[in-house]
Amino acid sequence: MTHIDNFGQLVNAVKSRLDIETVVGKFLDVRNHKAKCPFHDDGHPSLSIHPEDQYFHCFACGKAGDVIRFVELYKQIPFIDALKELAAEAGVPLTEIEPQDLQQIEKEQTRKTILRLTAEFYHRSLTDEARQYLIEKRGFSDETIEKFQIGYAAGGLREYLTQQGVDLTEAVEAGVLKECGGSSAITSICALSFQMSFVETWCN
Ligand SMILES: [Zn+2]
Repeated sequence: MTHIDNFGQLVNAVKSRLDIETVVGKFLDVRNHKAKCPFHDDGHPSLSIHPEDQYFHCFACGKAGDVIRFVELYKQIPFIDALKELAAEAGVPLTEIEPQDLQQIEKEQTRKTILRLTAEFYHRSLTDEARQYLIEKRGFSDETIEKFQIGYAAGGLREYLTQQGVDLTEAVEAGVLKECGGSSAITSICALSFQMSFVETWCN
């Protein structure tokens, strides 16, 4: 077993001992599994908390994730710091993280961040026409579309990731962009996306 395997187990141990609704409730006024979203200027409770699957999702701004991601976003701190805070709360010791693993953990977090940004961007790009296609032709429900942040790639990912400060080389390594004859031709490769993974991939 590698150190990173141990790290994954630590993350799962922290998540399994905490309830996302309880943690979110320390920061937000949660009623009927809903709260006003702190990640955009929210006039209504747009943030849903799903205790059965332990994730949150804002249908307005697209922010979504697990309990660690919530604390990371809410406190605007790095993933590892959010994990440390929640580990202390859950009573899970983090002494097994080896210093040499941190670099690899950060690299993995960068990759996940790029996949998350991509999923959020594509989900926000889902047009009414594409949503109608998914529901009528593919049998998806609105709930499934929201839960898995199913999205539509109408272009613009490269520019969006650049705006977010993402290194395009890392975006290529993460598999969301591809080089077509040099870095000037880095382009989106996905047309219909799921959170963290992609289907119906082709080069546009
Ligand atoms: Zn929001």
